[in-house]
Amino acid sequence: MDLQSKETIAQYIANAGAAAWQVPQLCEGTQTRSIQKVGVIGAGTMGGGISMNFATAGIEVTIVDQNQKALDQGLGVVRGNYQRSADKGRFPQNEVESRMQRLNGQLSLQALSNCDLIIEAVFENMDLKRQIFSTLDEIAKPGAILATNTSALDIDEIASVTKRPEDFIGLHFFSPANVMKLLEIVRAEKTADDVVATCMELAKTINKIATLVGVCPGFVGNRILFARQGQGQKLLYKGVMPWDTDAAMKAFGFKMGNFQMSDLAGLDIGWSKGAKTDNPIRDALCEMDRRGQKTKAGYYDYDAARTPIPSEITEIIIKDITGVEPTHMSRDQITETCIFPMINEALKILEENKAQRPSDIDIIWLNGYGWPADKGGLMYYADMVGVKEILKKMEELGAEDPAYAPAKTLRKMAQNSSKFTKIDTGGLKTTRS
Ligand code: NAD
Repeated sequence: MDLQSKETIAQYIANAGAAAWQVPQLCEGTQTRSIQKVGVIGAGTMGGGISMNFATAGIEVTIVDQNQKALDQGLGVVRGNYQRSADKGRFPQNEVESRMQRLNGQLSLQALSNCDLIIEAVFENMDLKRQIFSTLDEIAKPGAILATNTSALDIDEIASVTKRPEDFIGLHFFSPANVMKLLEIVRAEKTADDVVATCMELAKTINKIATLVGVCPGFVGNRILFARQGQGQKLLYKGVMPWDTDAAMKAFGFKMGNFQMSDLAGLDIGWSKGAKTDNPIRDALCEMDRRGQKTKAGYYDYDAARTPIPSEITEIIIKDITGVEPTHMSRDQITETCIFPMINEALKILEENKAQRPSDIDIIWLNGYGWPADKGGLMYYADMVGVKEILKKMEELGAEDPAYAPAKTLRKMAQNSSKFTKIDTGGLKTTRS
């Protein structure tokens, strides 16, 4: 089979998309719960976007924030988004009002007592989330699904504060939540089958592409992203400048590279003034108020049109901290260094049964992270490259840092040249399996 052929790749992606909806481990005959009213906690970046998905699909949403200002601001952003779409002719003006009428802003969690599904999207803070869910446990009606949109916190720990962990699940939307297609549905240790089935079904109603994943730091998509970003940081210590790494990622097919992505997200996520984190280059940039696009400077300088311009200041900071002179590395070498560790991490995820199947990983990266479609997906691309080449690189990177040591599966696969897209997994581990 010609893995490079456009038709073969298109067929693979179509099959992968269809497979992602299948959850073979659900008990036969599992019923879904009826979702008529949805509650969203937090009217910020994510809460607003999440609410839009439901209002657009004709479902009523009660959205709760902690004060009137935050609520007004959040609903204002939602209205602005709808208005812009109407202005572009995507739907008539009266549709803006119909959708806004489905959104009911409130200041008390008590207002969520009649909701069938409640999605929490407050600040990323474990104590706050625990507090919210222990209050909600007293308020939510029996059978309501309780969900968190956390990016990285331990969902089992959040679920443990309720007396109904079987009703608890992660719904990991991507930003902007009203636009991005991907939804990682995170099955926690005690999540009931019908809660999983309901959320998979609901994803279709709100026009998302869902994959079922398990609880681990960063779940599937971000965990693999961390592997790539980590190697980008290590390249700085070899003298490879951010713009060279980003150029290689763009040549590979990504719309933006590692460092442009960090600048867009904001370098100050997880940083506070005076902090000394394990990323001193980022710390130094933030101390200089170079916190990314929002401050018009981060790894790059930005002009008024937000064009990223390689920065002499950043180069000096990198040289000062690493003690290494800037050097040249070929695009192919940079690509291998950043992409092969993603494949290795994906194998570890499959070994831990945190994804249902290899092709789900491809669906996640195609729909949530801009993986270039002409390369099929991360696992598909791994088959294009071949296991031996990937193992060789991972042995080299693993010798530098054991966190990047070759996955057990990679070594096993190298012995019989097996295919990444054909790895047989045990499915997602549940309490029953
Ligand atoms: P945000 O700061 O934009 O919004 C948080 C909102 O929660 C604010 O409006 C705040 O007023 C409100 N809030 C705080 N405490 C509250 C309380 N006790 N009761 C009611 N409302 C309260 O944050 P965000 O970017 O929307 O992130 C929300 C969650 O989504 C976080 O857990 C984050 O990790 C996760 N997430 C974020 C992204 C992203 O790209 N921003 C992507 C995926 C997941």
